[in-house]
Amino acid sequence: MFKIRASFIIATIMLKATISFGQDTIPPLVIDQSAFTLFPDTLAQKRLLNSLNGFLEVKNNGSASNKYIDPAYLKKNIEPFQHIQDIEMNGGKSFFNPTLLCVIPLEDKSLLLKLAFMGVGEVDKTPFLRVIASLIAKKNDDGYYFYNALDHYTRSWNRLTSGSINYIYPNRIDLNKARAMNKFNSAFAKKLNTPVPKITYYKFEDPEQMFKTMGYDFIENMYASRVGGLAQYWNNTVFAGNDSELYEHEVVHFYTYIVFPKGKKNVHEGYATYIGGSGGKSLDQLLPLDKSYIDQHPEQEITELATDFYPHTPDVQLTYVLSAVVCRDIETRYGMSGIKKLFNPAEDDDYFANLKKITGVDKNDFPQYIRKLLTQKP
Ligand SMILES: [Zn+2]
Repeated sequence: MFKIRASFIIATIMLKATISFGQDTIPPLVIDQSAFTLFPDTLAQKRLLNSLNGFLEVKNNGSASNKYIDPAYLKKNIEPFQHIQDIEMNGGKSFFNPTLLCVIPLEDKSLLLKLAFMGVGEVDKTPFLRVIASLIAKKNDDGYYFYNALDHYTRSWNRLTSGSINYIYPNRIDLNKARAMNKFNSAFAKKLNTPVPKITYYKFEDPEQMFKTMGYDFIENMYASRVGGLAQYWNNTVFAGNDSELYEHEVVHFYTYIVFPKGKKNVHEGYATYIGGSGGKSLDQLLPLDKSYIDQHPEQEITELATDFYPHTPDVQLTYVLSAVVCRDIETRYGMSGIKKLFNPAEDDDYFANLKKITGVDKNDFPQYIRKLLTQKP
């Protein structure tokens, strides 16, 4: 999965050093001077702005209660605006102000809007762009409803069903890989003793095409990795930015987020990486890079590397890989019952306390345990 959360944390730390204060309230919408060049009707503009301001005011409370989102649309996707929730915020304060850049009328009478969230540091006046988001607006009886731009951008894309997988893709499809993805989905359902979920699978050439098609002309982290993807586990949708029909890592998340809701994030990512690799590489292909990082940085605490999600290594975070070798060791020695325990810690147990109960390895001995696993042949 993409490193969005980790990068937001880094950005927050960086910005804290450069700004002295922010606001608690949602900042007012700024209208770019050429925003309405293609949409000159001032009455229609007023109607649109009323709805857009209403939408922005309540968007951070989640889409389900937002009356500016079509309820019929929410039946398909309960959270279509995940990536712009709390997007104004930095360190608990509102910092990134929304600007309406343009309104483009489309053939079907809907509107394509481009919305930027930008901030300027108080101390050194450094400008920060957090996102340029594309939204679709459609007229209703009272004003406008807002939609994620994904359906608009993929309206003429190809579609193909391979068993339980519904592919949506811009160019060509590798049927062998599509069949392999379907086979994996069935086999993994059997392993976890659950029904086989139907999966919507968007295939993109790279992360840039992925984010643009999802409605983000720019978003933090868009260029942080050359491979990777995202998953919306609430509607079994894969966004594969790796130009591949086969993406076991993200599919594993659909199961584990549902079956193991109490699981810690490093265990979710570790298990998905153990089963499906990450960034287009299998766990065994990832190991040498991570081992050499640890060898070259003896000053770094391995217990922190296994839990901090910091991008120490390019493309695939070290935390994924360290957690993955632990998952492999536990599944090999204790089978699925060990994995279930790993995903279900007792209320007060952190990752290491839970691990000790399963493997007997104490937190103090964890670095040695990891070094052994990194050199072990599966
Ligand atoms: Zn993941």
